[in-house]
Parts: sequence; structure tokens; C-alpha cells
Amino acid sequence: MNLSSLAIQEAATALREKKFSSVELTQSCLDAIKKHDGDVRAFTTVCEESALANARAADALLAANKAPSILTGIPVALKDVFCTKGINTTAASNILKDFKPAYDATTVKKLAAAGMVMLGKTNTDEFTCGSSTETSCYGTTHNPWNLDCTPGGSSGGSSAAVAAGECLYALGTDTGGSIRQPAAYCGITGLKVTYGRVSRFGVISMASSLDSIGPMTKSAWDSAAVLQEIAGHDEHDTTTPNVAVPDYLAELAKADVAGMTIGLPKEYFIKGTDPEVDAAVRTAIEVLVKKGAKIKEISLPHSPYGLAVYYVLCPSEVSANMARYDGIRMGPGPTKEPKDLAEYYFNTRGEGFGAEMKRRIMMGTYTLSSGYYDAYYTKAQKVRTLVMRDFDEAFKDVDVIITPVTPSTAFKIGENSNDPVKMYLEDIFTVSVNVAGLPGLAVPVGFSSQKMPIGMQIIGPMFSEAKLLQVGHVYQQETSWHKERAMK
Ligand code: GLN
Repeated sequence: MNLSSLAIQEAATALREKKFSSVELTQSCLDAIKKHDGDVRAFTTVCEESALANARAADALLAANKAPSILTGIPVALKDVFCTKGINTTAASNILKDFKPAYDATTVKKLAAAGMVMLGKTNTDEFTCGSSTETSCYGTTHNPWNLDCTPGGSSGGSSAAVAAGECLYALGTDTGGSIRQPAAYCGITGLKVTYGRVSRFGVISMASSLDSIGPMTKSAWDSAAVLQEIAGHDEHDTTTPNVAVPDYLAELAKADVAGMTIGLPKEYFIKGTDPEVDAAVRTAIEVLVKKGAKIKEISLPHSPYGLAVYYVLCPSEVSANMARYDGIRMGPGPTKEPKDLAEYYFNTRGEGFGAEMKRRIMMGTYTLSSGYYDAYYTKAQKVRTLVMRDFDEAFKDVDVIITPVTPSTAFKIGENSNDPVKMYLEDIFTVSVNVAGLPGLAVPVGFSSQKMPIGMQIIGPMFSEAKLLQVGHVYQQETSWHKERAMK
């Protein structure tokens, strides 16, 4: 077995038992990248030399018994929206071609302090706008379980890299499902944290009231280990409250679902869902029931509006965030010689942004424009409150809520490309969680008859990550879906 297909938990133990070194583990990831990434295309930048240097430094710490973290010496891939000092950070957009930040994101700094080995940057939909990693300026990433299918998106590079055994874990971002959906499509575990649980400082923004950062791993245990290092208040991000960070791994050791009530919202178990997805999620719930959990059917009555609210708020915020890309401070600027400053901006943005970005900027500018602002943006904010209240009400009666992550398994590359509305419908089960600012965990719960992974979503109240990870961990102790590997 390749070392690179190990989970963090196994690798961290083996590193301490001196079964292999971080350099060997890192080399095994670099070999897997060489072997598979020509097909999978998960990486936008590979940092071979600096990764091996990171690994040597980690080995020295491990040899001296001074490893600061479980993550010391463990190779990670970062979605190409995490600022990495001196290393390309492009959001997969031509407008940021070859952009090298002057500083590291807080999460990158924290992982560096933990002794990470940074393998490189992973592909994403342009500025994380998408559900398939097809809007990237680098071209699409392929699903390691079936190269004809998308890995999901926008963190499709991260999920594919983990699933292909090219890294042990990755970081992704989730604004409307971009960690959970690709995790589900690639058969890995992905955690969307509570809004503000993890600092977004130094991470390229998509929609600032919805964006969150989280781990993409091979198990719930591994997600807990990563979250431990990256969670918490950051003075550079005013949306990170000073809420105590639990000892997530200690909480996992106590994991038990006996007596827990799981809510099943009727609006999420609906006809249009692929019967194989529905059946796999229901079978997974049975596993938790056997461990003592109770089931309660609930209603989240405003769920049907979640997607509409999201697709007003998100493009509005995207259009505002994209205003800073003018080709002067960041990015290469226009190729055509402009006659004046206005044309400089016009050419930069016309050439630099892809079609989906232009669509979002136009939609968002429209919904924020005077005369339409109240009808669209303000109204969506009001409905957002109703969506939040649904969850608040539900959590009076249940501990967690379980739903499918997606209505189907991974779709074929190109299948939704010409139909933005069909693409947006992909996010039907994930966006309300962002709209409400809640945490959600995606765990693999089986395969379709086509051998494509299926994911289950576990949603909890704000700052209940420990509980979600407990439920995921109990499930993974009873099952082995998370141990299946797409590539040898
Ligand atoms: N698919 C969603 C969108 O395109 C979510 C993206 C994300 O979470 N970054 O808006």
C-alpha cells in the first residue's frame, strides 16, 4: 500500500513509531501526484522542493520528540485561494495569473506552526464560483473514481487530491457547499464549520457573509485533528468570535450517539433525489439508530427558498468582492494597450474574468442596484432570517439534522455546463446551511451501482462541530466506506 493513501491518524502514529519518515511520506505523495495528476489534474502548483524541505524539518522535530502537533510532517494540499507567501495564489482566474501574495493566510500560518508539509495548491472553480471545478482557468479537475465525472466543486481539486491519495488531507472553502459537495462526490469527509469558527484572513473572498474554511480529510477523526489547529479567534478577522475551542479529539474519544435525537427534515427527503442516494443515507441513519440514536421527522418550512436566497445574496457579495480586481494592485493587467484608465479596467476585467464570474458580477450588480436593492437584496436578507429561524426551532427538539449532501452522485464533466440553473440546483441541500451560518459535516455512506460515492450531511447548531464529528466518528467506527480508496 502507498503511504500517501494513509489517513492522518495512521500516519501520525507511524511517524512516531519511526515506521517511516515524513520525507518518505512526502515522497510517496509526490510520486502519487506524478502518477495520477496528469489524469486527475487536482493541482495548480506543486511545491516539490519546499515540501521535501518541510518534511526534513518535521523529521528533525519528530526525532527530537518535539513535534508540536499531530499534523507535524503530514503532507497537505491547499485550495488555490489560500494566500501562500511567494507561492502562486490565483483563485484559478486569469485575472490573478501568477499572483504571489506577500503574506500567508492565518490558517496557513497556523498549519506551518504545526509543522505541516505543504505539497502545493489545488484547483477550484474560478473564485470558488461553481459546483464542478469546470470554471477554472486551468481546465477541469477529474473525479478519481471515474475520470469522466466531475469531482464536484468548487473545492474539487482538494477533494480529488485527497481521494486520489495525492495528499493526506486538504483545506477547502465552503460558501454554498464547496467542501461538502466535492467531499460527497469523491468519497471523503468534509467539514463546513460555523461561520467565524476559522479565520478567513488571507483567503480570497467569494461572498463574505457566507464564506467558511474547513478540512477535507479521509475520516472524521482526521477532520477533528485539523480543525484543532485552525479554529479560533483571529485579530485579523473580526468575524471570528472569542468562543472557546474545544479539545476536538478528546471529545471524539467520548463519542456516543445513544439518546441523541436526529432530525430528518421532510423537505430534504424528496422525490427528485436519486433513489440510490436516498437509500444509502437511510441505511447510514439505521447504523446510528442501532447505536442508540432516536429519529424524529421534522420540517424546515423555508427550505424551498434557501437556494433562491443564496443565489441573490451570493452574487451580490461576489460582485462587491470582485470590484477590487482592477489589474493595478494585483494580477497582470490587460494585454491590449488601453487609451485611458477606464479602458485599462475594462480590458483587465473583460479579459481576466471567465463567463461564470461575469454572470455573477452582472447578477449581483443588478440585485444591488438602486431601485432593485429592496426588491432583491433586502428581501433575500429577510428570508435569510426565516431560514435561520427554521433551524433554531428544529434544534429545540433535535441534536443534529441529517440529510443527503446532494440529490445525485457526481455528474459527467460538461453535463451541466450550458445550463447555469441546473448547475445551481446542485446546491439545493447545502446552501441553507451557509445561509444560516451553521456547521455541516459530509461523510461517505456508500456507492451507487456505478461505483460512485454517496455522501450524508450532518448539520448542527452553531459551534457544534465537536458533536458533528462525534456522530461522524461513531458512524465511521461501524462502517468502512471512508477506508475505500479510488486509486492504487
Ligand atoms: N456551488 C455554489 C456556488 O457556485 C457554492 C460555491 C462555494 O461554496 N464556494 O455558488
